[in-house]
Formats: sequence, C-alpha cells, structure tokens
Amino acid sequence: MFRPRRSSFRSRLRLSRGRWLVIAILSTVTDSLPPCPECSSEYTYELGALLVCPECAHEWEAAPADEAPESVIKDAVGNVLADGDTVIVVKNLKVRGSPTSIKVGTKVRNIRLVDGVDGHDIDCKVDGFGPMQLKSSVVKKV
Ligand SMILES: [Zn+2]
Repeated sequence: MFRPRRSSFRSRLRLSRGRWLVIAILSTVTDSLPPCPECSSEYTYELGALLVCPECAHEWEAAPADEAPESVIKDAVGNVLADGDTVIVVKNLKVRGSPTSIKVGTKVRNIRLVDGVDGHDIDCKVDGFGPMQLKSSVVKKV
C-alpha cells in the first residue's frame, strides 16, 4: 500500500512557501532580469553574481550587463559596411609599387571586412590593381 511520506511533503511545502515569499518580494524589481533558462520562469532574482530561479532552483551566471558592442566598420560618411558591399573610393590613393594611383570614383565590388593592420579594414580586389586592403575611411558605400 502506498503511504505518503508526510514529513518530507511538509518540508517541501515549507520550502515552496518560502520561495513564494521571495517571489512576492522580488517580483516588483525583477523586470529586467532574463527568464530562467531551465524552466523559463520569469521570477528570477539576483544572488550576488548569480541569477536564481525560485521555481526550479536553477542557478546560473548572469550575462554581463554591458556587453561589448559589436565592432562596426563605417565608410567615410558613416554608413555601416558589410561583407559583399560595393563601395567607391572617395580619395585618390597612392598604391605602393604602382606608378598609378587608385582614382576617386573607382568602384570596388564585393568587399570583405577584416581586422587589418593600421586601420586597413577592407580586404578587396581593385580592378587594374589586384587584391589589396583599404581603409574604410576612404570609401563610400554605393
Ligand atoms: Zn527555473
């Protein structure tokens, strides 16, 4: 015959009552906290550096509030550039080892953004010059 284990049931009840008290107190200030990743409860609260879920008792590390902004590369006039963009050169550019320079208005297709040396953050191929790296400050998105 099944006999419920009363003592453990009672202590569990007490525990959950305590949790609900915590929820009642904290629910007014937890609006900005992320929901529990385990049970998606919204009643999470902060405990030091941790976030705690009162419903499933899951504890996890809070993501840093100010995440580093994604590095954005902008052209000469502030347009955000992306891989595959076509740009035009807005400045005559001397090319090392070449008698001619890249002229203003030269169209450069299919750029690739790179973490280049010295601010040369665009990897591309310029017609007549071949592959090279340019600074985003000398181009404009088309
Ligand atoms: Zn949870």
